[in-house]
Amino acid sequence: MDLHFTPEQLKFRDEVRAWLAENLERTWTEETRDPAHDADSLVEVRRAWQRKLNAAGYLGMGWPPEWGGRGASAVEDAILTAELYYADAPLIPNFLGITLLCPALIHHGTEEQRRRFIPKVLNCDEIWCQGFSEPSAGSDLASLRTRAERDGDDWRITGQKVWTTFGPWSDWIFVLARTDPEDRYGGISFFLVPIDQPGVDMRGLKQITGESEFGEVFFDGALAKGEHLVGALGEGWKIAMTVLGYERGASALQYPAEYQRQLEGLARGLGGAMERPEVRAKLGRLVVENEVMRANGLRTLANLEAGLPPGPESSIEKIFWSEYHQRLTDAALDLLGPQGQLHATAEGARPEVDWAYQYLWSRAGTIYSGSSEIQRNIIAKRVLRMPTGK
Ligand SMILES: Cc1cc2nc3c(=O)[nH]c(=O)nc-3n(C[C@H](O)[C@H](O)[C@H](O)COP(=O)(O)OP(=O)(O)OC[C@H]3O[C@@H](n4cnc5c(N)ncnc54)[C@H](O)[C@@H]3O)c2cc1C
Repeated sequence: MDLHFTPEQLKFRDEVRAWLAENLERTWTEETRDPAHDADSLVEVRRAWQRKLNAAGYLGMGWPPEWGGRGASAVEDAILTAELYYADAPLIPNFLGITLLCPALIHHGTEEQRRRFIPKVLNCDEIWCQGFSEPSAGSDLASLRTRAERDGDDWRITGQKVWTTFGPWSDWIFVLARTDPEDRYGGISFFLVPIDQPGVDMRGLKQITGESEFGEVFFDGALAKGEHLVGALGEGWKIAMTVLGYERGASALQYPAEYQRQLEGLARGLGGAMERPEVRAKLGRLVVENEVMRANGLRTLANLEAGLPPGPESSIEKIFWSEYHQRLTDAALDLLGPQGQLHATAEGARPEVDWAYQYLWSRAGTIYSGSSEIQRNIIAKRVLRMPTGK
């Protein structure tokens, strides 16, 4: 395993840093602090940012050239992602379109689907959300019940999806729907569904953070055109499982970079209190743990470079970054006292990091992308090879 970047990779990192210095006018924390913004105008800030990244060739770098890619390696993707997070750049609105939908289309879609959808995803002309989870099908996704029924050459979708990130601002949703009730995995298909139509009711869900970035969506005979089935009928599960694994490399250094920025913000916020040994000990431990996480990310990248798949060990990383963020934000609220509980726009709030938001948001990390319990099951079975009782 080689933990060092090559001279070319370091050159790429410097290019990204220089580009960010020139193009990132305000950090995301600064944008969200601006009282002139509301939820809709913040989406437009994100859209404008995505367009800048797209124009610079920083989206989908690892894709084939005809779809805007430049044959970038997983390491370059990871370097870019880490720099964006360290710089506190806005999150692009179409991250689900780019990380999940486009790989699905590139690997499993038709040429017509790629031409129709990919450019508009990249330029954020159409925002996409992911319709996988249902009220009774989260961890056990294969028990999903939303169904698609034939209507001539087309399909009619009926059912409910939930926790739909960015749903309230999306134009399209990619949906896993049941096309054969008798076949648990092979009876699931992957559809592209426009949201602005009579059979779709998207409702915002109020979150603990105060935002409504999530939706629940009800389908009542919604139309999915025949040409908007991705892959063959019954291939939805296979497509979903493969695309969920594609982007593992890109996020390998994302969390350590983001948490480093937060740790530096915490140290600045603590000011003179940093002289106290117990404060330094607490922060020091968090810094060391973050470096362990970075080393793990580098190991994942080294494996990917060597042509090895990320494997079930990525469950260890998932547990680590999500539980670490809860420890970090617990420590921040503890050390900063009442000031740590103020939201970004409140008078007297720390300017570096919106700790109240981060604390509340960190609760979600141990649930999405597979909960901690599910990750531990995977580690027990596939890493430790423990007996499953079956
Ligand atoms: C911030 C956020 C964003 C999300 N965005 C999207 C999105 O855009 N699109 C989308 O489709 N979904 C999205 N989700 C949904 C997410 O995928 C599910 O929340 C997740 O899969 C867990 O499912 P669930 O909420 O139904 O919980 P459940 O599966 O009902 O689990 C409830 C509890 O039981 C535990 N549990 C379940 N099964 C087992 C088991 N076999 N062994 C041990 N413990 C178990 C779980 O760990 C959990 O603690 C999002 C969720 C969050 C929090």
